[in-house]
Amino acid sequence: MVIPDIIIAIDGYSSTGKSSFAKLVASRFGFLYLDSGALYRGVTLFAREERLISRSNVIDPRLEKELDNLDLHFSPDGRLYMGDRCIEPQIRTLEVSSQVSPIAAVPYVRNYVDSILHAYGSKGRIVMDGRDIGTAVFPDAQLKIFMTASDEVRARRRYDEMVAKGEHPSLEDVVRNLRERDYIDSHREVNPLRRAEDAFLLDNSEMGFTEELAWIQGLMQGKFNLL
Ligand code: C5P
Repeated sequence: MVIPDIIIAIDGYSSTGKSSFAKLVASRFGFLYLDSGALYRGVTLFAREERLISRSNVIDPRLEKELDNLDLHFSPDGRLYMGDRCIEPQIRTLEVSSQVSPIAAVPYVRNYVDSILHAYGSKGRIVMDGRDIGTAVFPDAQLKIFMTASDEVRARRRYDEMVAKGEHPSLEDVVRNLRERDYIDSHREVNPLRRAEDAFLLDNSEMGFTEELAWIQGLMQGKFNLL
């Protein structure tokens, strides 16, 4: 199958399996995968380490200026770096998860992340996942997918993922965090989470990787007349 140089935008609620699906699509079609949420998490980690966000999520306005000196970038294998430090494990903790949505609601933070995403996107052949990729970051993406799954399935997935990494959250805390993030993400003023009108809906509550792969292959073949 010869795949055109397109951008595939995958958006959806927290823990709907967007990144696993995006990685699957990227490896199947030989595309680069980019996790936009990792950048918001990277800014959150930075704000926490520099004490620019309080426990009750009050953000110090000095963060805006500090972002000028913040170097966040992905390694070729898709891991996020702050300068020369790989920050993958640190950005996936429940502490960062519980502060990332207020940070991501700040307009200058969104501009900062968008400029990084646009630089990567200009190369084409990428799969990017997030909350506003198909609506705001790449509104002209040739293929848009909006993912959803039941609350139970999402919470269980996130919980299992964290336990596998050696964390010990309570299932209740995980559920609360997912709901809070979904609420803030879909109600913020700038580029809230919503399904683009031309996005294909994928509910993967009862799907495994094999079914997901069959679904995307069918979609690509139909949309781009691939053999
Ligand atoms: O995708 P992930 O769950 O890692 O994203 C973490 C947070 O980053 C989301 O809950 C959301 O607040 C923010 N985000 C965003 N826009 C994106 C990607 C992520 O606001 N495109």
